[in-house]
Amino acid sequence: MNLSVVIPVYNERETLAEIVQAVLATEMAYEIILVDDGSKDGTRDLYPQIEALAPTIIRVILHEKNLGKGGALQTGFRAATGDIIIIQDADLEYDPRDYPAMIRPIVEGKAAVVYGSRFRGGPSKTMFFMNMVGNKFLTLMANILYNTILTDIETCYKAFRADVIKGIPIRSRGFDFEPEITAKVLKRGHRIYEVPISYNGREYEEGKKIRPWRDGPIALWCLVKYRFVD
Ligand code: UDP
Ligand code: MG
Repeated sequence: MNLSVVIPVYNERETLAEIVQAVLATEMAYEIILVDDGSKDGTRDLYPQIEALAPTIIRVILHEKNLGKGGALQTGFRAATGDIIIIQDADLEYDPRDYPAMIRPIVEGKAAVVYGSRFRGGPSKTMFFMNMVGNKFLTLMANILYNTILTDIETCYKAFRADVIKGIPIRSRGFDFEPEITAKVLKRGHRIYEVPISYNGREYEEGKKIRPWRDGPIALWCLVKYRFVD
């Protein structure tokens, strides 16, 4: 099965080349789709060099305006041609060496959707208290609303059978993508498989963009809303 790696990129010049090299090093990517979400920090100057690393594998799509992570992912999903699609953030918080574990349940036909959980025993940098509380609370709400037992809905590592993700209409432009896709996958009756992954969180000074006080309440609202609408 062919693996498409979709990377949303917004102002990531410090880490982009390194993460693309780490993805290439797995030798698992059939294609790598970089969706630049309107970067303004010089990231765009790097694309010729980055594409030259593997011209047959790497494709770059540019958004003129910043839409948010959800918007970038929608562009990437539409462009992807593989059988399995995995989301890869452009920072170094998640490690492509976890790809074999991430896609195994799909390859073996056990699942259509796999989440990499930071709370299932993998090595993990101990990050911010409020982000953890927010994530645990949102995950609990998702479990109650959709009758399941996930441990980490806000994880970036989500892998999908391509036909499943392409068949789900997504409205979210920003970080509300995570609750929306979780809600819609569960509503469609797919059991999400979880596997432990490693996590090397980054600091806000290093460019982390999610804000628990802003994005947490939006995510909660989405979980409730998508219980009733689609
Ligand atoms: N991102 C994006 N558009 C945005 C904000 C973020 O494409 O408007 C990308 C960002 O470059 C990164 C991913 O989405 O690859 C997740 O962002 P970040 O690491 O800041 O979020 P967190 O790890 O805190 O969830
Ligand atoms: Mg990140």
